[in-house]
Amino acid sequence: MRSAVSVNQAVMVLLVDDQAMIGEAVRRALVSEPGIDFHFCSDPHEAVAVALQIQPTVILQDLVMPGVDGLSLLPAYRAEPNLRDVPIIVLSTKEDPQIKCAAFSAGANDYLVKLPDVIELVARIRYHSRSFLALQQRDEAFRALRESQQQLLEANLVLQRMMKSDGLTGLANRRHFDEYLDIEWKRAMRESSQLSLVMIDVDYFKKYNDHFGHVAGDEVLRMLGKAMDAACSRASDLAARYGGEEFVMVLPGTSSGGARLQAEKLRRAVEELNIAHNMPAEGSHVTISIGVATMVPQQGQDPVGLVEKADQGLYQAKAGGRNQVGIAD
Ligand code: GH3
Ligand code: MG
Ligand code: MG
Repeated sequence: MRSAVSVNQAVMVLLVDDQAMIGEAVRRALVSEPGIDFHFCSDPHEAVAVALQIQPTVILQDLVMPGVDGLSLLPAYRAEPNLRDVPIIVLSTKEDPQIKCAAFSAGANDYLVKLPDVIELVARIRYHSRSFLALQQRDEAFRALRESQQQLLEANLVLQRMMKSDGLTGLANRRHFDEYLDIEWKRAMRESSQLSLVMIDVDYFKKYNDHFGHVAGDEVLRMLGKAMDAACSRASDLAARYGGEEFVMVLPGTSSGGARLQAEKLRRAVEELNIAHNMPAEGSHVTISIGVATMVPQQGQDPVGLVEKADQGLYQAKAGGRNQVGIAD
């Protein structure tokens, strides 16, 4: 494709005509014209290749040449993406309505009888070249506009993802969790279906940071985040970072028994990560405590009630000795 263009760019005329005499006459007509470059091609078989090379702003095309019908060259120019829009002025030997008609239907932009008056020739060359360059400039501006629109769209998508996700674990963040729970709560109320909430807290995590450092602590949170993401088996399940070393899983359409099973699976998966810890005893591994609550939301109730219930379950799990699942009544 052509690169950025300016309407003030030099005019480049390509004349395709088998007669050297015509070439010489046009060259002389244009030689003293400022801002007009001229190229003459006497071999019609070379015309398209030459045009591709010199990138004319207008083509003067002879109609009658030995072995080649000038009109048959028009579709050949148009087939080239870089020449598709270049204006073509057909040079005919006579003012003939039939030839004129054939020329325009073949895609010519203008029609001149040889040899035209210099003033008219120059005026038409300038007119067609200017409109061609303006067209190029407009296309270029549209292309740049489309590109920046695309970039804006992509930046917005990134921003939207960032607004919904937790920077450390890549899970949904607290804001997204709150919104999601609200939506699923309302849906469960409409459908009279069960909604389960799983609340997860890392055991002895303060001690982990104290002993292994916060960087190692962050890495543990990332690993746990992956385990929780993997534990969300249904498309409607959502794992989120609730805050600090606490996580939640929203499980729509899931019974208490089903949620408990999911929670137990997650607890075991974390155990199997075998992350060394010195609590509760030397040689221990990182574990999690989990609270599970299930409700069929009723009018007058609130999703905060479900969170509180899951928190109760979590408290039971901690009080029961950690590394276990507590079910709120
Ligand atoms: P428990 O078994 O009762 O849950 O004890 P705990 O030490 O896990 O609980 P506590 O609430 O006392 O401490 C939580 C710790 O989690 C404190 C804080 O240093 C750590 N923590 C919270 N957010 C982050 C984080 O983003 N990165 C790291 N590395 N640590 C965090
Ligand atoms: Mg905590
Ligand atoms: Mg904890």
